[in-house]
Amino acid sequence: MQLLVRPKPFTDESLESYLLRLAEANFLETYRLLSGAVKEWLQEQDHEAGGAFPLELKTVNIWHARQSSSFRVRALSLFEKLTDNEDLPLLALSLRNSAADFCGNYRAVARGGEHIPRCFLRKSIIPICPLCLEENRYIPQAWHYLTYTACTKHHVNLIYDCPSCGSPISYLENELIDRCRCGYDLSLAPVTRADRDSILLSEFVSEPEVAFSSPLPYTSSISIRNAALLYFCIVEDTDLDNAQEVIESLRLAIRFYSKWPGSYTSDLSKKLIASGDRLVKSYNKTPLEFAWGKRVSSACLIRGMRPEENFVLKEILSVLFEVVESNPKSKKSNYGDMLLTVKEAAVLLQTTHEQVYLLLEDGYLQPAYRVPVWLRMHASQPIFYLRQVVELVRAKMPADFGAAATYLPHW
Ligand SMILES: [Zn+2]
Ligand SMILES: [Zn+2]
Repeated sequence: MQLLVRPKPFTDESLESYLLRLAEANFLETYRLLSGAVKEWLQEQDHEAGGAFPLELKTVNIWHARQSSSFRVRALSLFEKLTDNEDLPLLALSLRNSAADFCGNYRAVARGGEHIPRCFLRKSIIPICPLCLEENRYIPQAWHYLTYTACTKHHVNLIYDCPSCGSPISYLENELIDRCRCGYDLSLAPVTRADRDSILLSEFVSEPEVAFSSPLPYTSSISIRNAALLYFCIVEDTDLDNAQEVIESLRLAIRFYSKWPGSYTSDLSKKLIASGDRLVKSYNKTPLEFAWGKRVSSACLIRGMRPEENFVLKEILSVLFEVVESNPKSKKSNYGDMLLTVKEAAVLLQTTHEQVYLLLEDGYLQPAYRVPVWLRMHASQPIFYLRQVVELVRAKMPADFGAAATYLPHW
């Protein structure tokens, strides 16, 4: 089997879009004709790779493969050779499962060096910008992200439904780039101007340089910006399975980060004071989570990131230093005696859970209550005094190489 024509990929093009154009350029009427032929050929070459190659466009990308991700990579790398010309750019355009851990336990996918929380991926509807389609018939990867709601080039809102038949737009389902199943030419769809927040949000997740004063553009890392946007959704208790709710939260996130850090630090202080009115037990028996929710446990943003890049953690620590300093230990318990979990302590100390357990074993941290030896302490059990953890952060032993600080050796 040989494909005679190799269309030139656009750098921001999605794998699925490229495959549709590949079928068309090689005079195949439908994508299924291409995928059927490729699958058959793969099965002759390599049974496992053939088995891992789906016929449907909507599941072809690598991140959809559950156990057989490596077989899918193998299938695509064999597929890349099906041309006389330069290899097809299939792996470079693909979206894969990423090992990055966002906000303390949220899975991610990656393309090139960019990591995106999985919950920010659109599931079936992939909206489009008609003006982009009019210029070039392809689908950019960014249209797959919930964070991208306005076209950064034309400053119009993406459209989600076909203006002719009203059905949701999905090139993955329809296996057509610029037409609806009803035949409507989507490049003709009427557009509306996007507002500033939507454009900014789209720029943050697709362009390294953005003119806006907030910590999001301080970092040109789109992965860190994605983590910061996810952080906002988590602390605001957004239902991450509800796309509409996520989009609304993301728009609020733009406002939130525009007032950084003042709005955040004053919110932390207010929440701490307000917790006093709701207190059921004394402070030394109350988890900090009672006042702050997931603000500390999610603040690692991306596990292993360089500490100096974590602008969220920096503000949390500055507030906590102040809290502990202005509330010294006394007979009556106070904010400084509130309890932290292993997970929260690890975030504040910028280290691993394992290191926190070692600090406990070696007496650098004392448990707030006795835990039976046979019972392995759970990472979300509030057990450490805030004061002790904060003091340890201040006295932090210099980190050796590696992003996670090492406080104690393993022996
Ligand atoms: Zn556009
Ligand atoms: Zn239609």
